[in-house]
Amino acid sequence: MTFSVLATRTLATTKHSDRQGKTPRRLIIHHCGSTSNGNAEFLATNSADTSATYCLLNTAVLVGIVPEELRPWTTGGHAYDGDAITVESVNSTAAPEWAVTDAQLEVLAQLAADLSTRYGWGPLTRTNVVGHREVNSSTGTICPGPYLLPRLDDIVTRANTILAGAPPAAAPPQNGTAMLPVPFSNPTTYAGHSGVDFPVPSGTAIRASGPGIVTGRRWQNANAGYSTLVQYDNGPLVLYCHQPNLNAIPAVGTRVSEGTVIGAVGSTGRSTGPHLHMEIMSGRGVHTYAGIWNYFTRSRVVGAGSSSNGNRTKRPTAEIQRLVGANPDGIYGPDTTAKVRAWQGAHSLVADGVWGPASDAKGFPAGPNLAVDGQWGVATTKALQVALGVAADGQIGPNTIRALQARVGVAADGIMGPNTSKGLQRHLGVAQDGQWGPDTARALQVRLNAGTF
Ligand SMILES: [Zn+2]
Ligand SMILES: [Zn+2]
Repeated sequence: MTFSVLATRTLATTKHSDRQGKTPRRLIIHHCGSTSNGNAEFLATNSADTSATYCLLNTAVLVGIVPEELRPWTTGGHAYDGDAITVESVNSTAAPEWAVTDAQLEVLAQLAADLSTRYGWGPLTRTNVVGHREVNSSTGTICPGPYLLPRLDDIVTRANTILAGAPPAAAPPQNGTAMLPVPFSNPTTYAGHSGVDFPVPSGTAIRASGPGIVTGRRWQNANAGYSTLVQYDNGPLVLYCHQPNLNAIPAVGTRVSEGTVIGAVGSTGRSTGPHLHMEIMSGRGVHTYAGIWNYFTRSRVVGAGSSSNGNRTKRPTAEIQRLVGANPDGIYGPDTTAKVRAWQGAHSLVADGVWGPASDAKGFPAGPNLAVDGQWGVATTKALQVALGVAADGQIGPNTIRALQARVGVAADGIMGPNTSKGLQRHLGVAQDGQWGPDTARALQVRLNAGTF
């Protein structure tokens, strides 16, 4: 079940067949000939014999439908789709133009680049990225429409720029990856209420959750009061209500990024006290409480000092803090976030300040997983050599002995005598009888497994 990481949502379908030994070598781009994002569900579940690998909504959300291992039913037969990944693009305007948005074009380019990387297509040409009617015009289709077809060259150019290492535009938000705009403790909502209320003191800065553009700065209405509207790149349009005035709101058209101040908490409009009412206006889960959690996560809060903020692993926060040189107080606050960012940058990771699986694997590599059997076997010797930073050949030679002696604090003469054995036992905290017995081996195996030798 392979889908691009760009797909933020997947649907189940039975409308697919075997690739009959073919592997994907091209992306066939389609348009839906419809402005309804319900086309994704239609492709997955309608009784018609049509499906697609992906459906790209006009909100730029990419939905995975047919796993890439399987042939989608999109272009009119195995001869076309057997070796293709297909994408149906929901249009942003109706006939005759059948346009799509710039954000959709960007996702198509990112998808082409991602496929090239994963399937080894190399630099892309227009044989890798083709329109439906270029491949199969037998039905007289105009797909992918007068707007999209002439832009396939641009998609290829942009995809090759991405492949060449230029920074890609922001990816669509993954489920619950965007930061929340204010530090808060208990978000609330109630029946018939179309957003989430974050109780926070008056004047608290409201910060942007990611890259986007301010599209509204106004007295929204008698319910919402003074409000900011932000259109996030490839993401939702979000309304931030009940602000005290317009003072903290940037001008319409201002580009924002994660952490940019976009307003302040207040209580104007229909409000019983200072709070931020945040509401999704477009995209998944429009106007619903659940919709918020499609984009935002409680565990990422701008500027908060909560113990969970930024730590998305089960690793105790204090351990992370010790590793990155932050005060190990167990609170994943702004200082820890900054130190994690610096550590990530120094270790070739995405420096987002969030402790996720990639950071955890790099920071706390898995141990050798030795059997704790008290035997001095080759596996234990090799693991010891890895821990000592010498060639792991499984032989206890002078180099290994010297490194071991240095580690346990005895004279590094490369000769294994009783002093070295006792030094090792002292280092391990076991009885110092100078023998290489099972207790010593077991203690060593435990320490090697824990990465603490
Ligand atoms: Zn088509
Ligand atoms: Zn509210």
